[in-house]
Amino acid sequence: MRKLLFRNLFLTPLTEPSPEPDGESIAALATGVDIAARRRLGHSLSIRLVDAGSCNGCELEIHAVNNAYYDLERFGIRFVASPRHADVLLVTGPVTKNMQEALARSYDAIPAPKWVVAVGDCAFDGGCFAGSYAVAGGVAAVVPVDLYIRGCPPSPTDLLKGLLALF
Ligand code: SF4
Repeated sequence: MRKLLFRNLFLTPLTEPSPEPDGESIAALATGVDIAARRRLGHSLSIRLVDAGSCNGCELEIHAVNNAYYDLERFGIRFVASPRHADVLLVTGPVTKNMQEALARSYDAIPAPKWVVAVGDCAFDGGCFAGSYAVAGGVAAVVPVDLYIRGCPPSPTDLLKGLLALF
């Protein structure tokens, strides 16, 4: 036991190094999103996120878009708590039968014009949960989708590219 403790004192943690961020391409993407969002919607864009049954992997990447490095809010793009204040409905996960009605109600509550962005492979067609008795299908099975951002999960850069494509 003492030998094990002593050895562990000098071992480095067994974690992978984090990927090198591509600062230039993220800055270019962010500028593109900023210009496009302002042209289309004035000075702000509000996003309502609905987790329709995700494993939470997609949410972690969406949270990263809000962190100090990507800092989406500096462009006036922000997440809101109510669909009544939103322009965009961002949906993650396969749509579980329990969330089907809540998703449809959130969509109905967003004032027009509105857009729906389905994030992740599960939101596309149910992904690895497709065919489950508890899953209604991809997001398009419940509400009309304007844009898919594929990936399992998509990276913050993919999310920025997707938002740029939306405008
Ligand atoms: S796409 Fe992948 S990360 Fe996102 S909810 Fe599905 S399994 Fe989870």
